[in-house]
Amino acid sequence: MTVQRTFSIIKPDATKRNLTGAINAKFEEAGLRIVAQRRIHLSDEQAKKFYEVHAERPFYGELVEFMTSEPVVVQVLEGEDAVALHRKVMGATNPAEADAGTVRKDFALSIGENSVHGSDSAENAAIEIAQFFTEDQIVG
Ligand code: ATP
Ligand code: MG
Repeated sequence: MTVQRTFSIIKPDATKRNLTGAINAKFEEAGLRIVAQRRIHLSDEQAKKFYEVHAERPFYGELVEFMTSEPVVVQVLEGEDAVALHRKVMGATNPAEADAGTVRKDFALSIGENSVHGSDSAENAAIEIAQFFTEDQIVG
């Protein structure tokens, strides 16, 4: 087990419904430490770049439009096996398939408006963190 960092976004459907604190409480209860956090409004360019792996998917346009519709909270989370732990607390992409007590089961509205993003590997976490934070902005 090693201490890892992962990148998280509290998505527009959640910030709009004032769920930032409730979602952060689930992260902290699971043992994840919020070591950097900022509320921003993603630009079209930032959202397109962030989700460019999905550029060929039919939902890409809708996803970019959603992610730029309201503010988001970008975060760096730290903890033991943080990437996998965070994904576990988030729950399945589709809230209908998410386990009880997960963020998506409790808060997500649909497969698209699913309240949170989490990196899917340590390698992608490092890439995603660097898109939004400099090292001196992360205080572990
Ligand atoms: P994320 O990358 O946001 O953490 P994920 O890794 O669980 O989510 P991905 O397959 O990477 O899921 O999809 C990225 C995002 O695209 C999803 O979180 C969701 O917001 C949106 N998305 C995925 N599949 C669909 C779909 N079938 N219809 C609409 N939106 C979708
Ligand atoms: Mg993903």
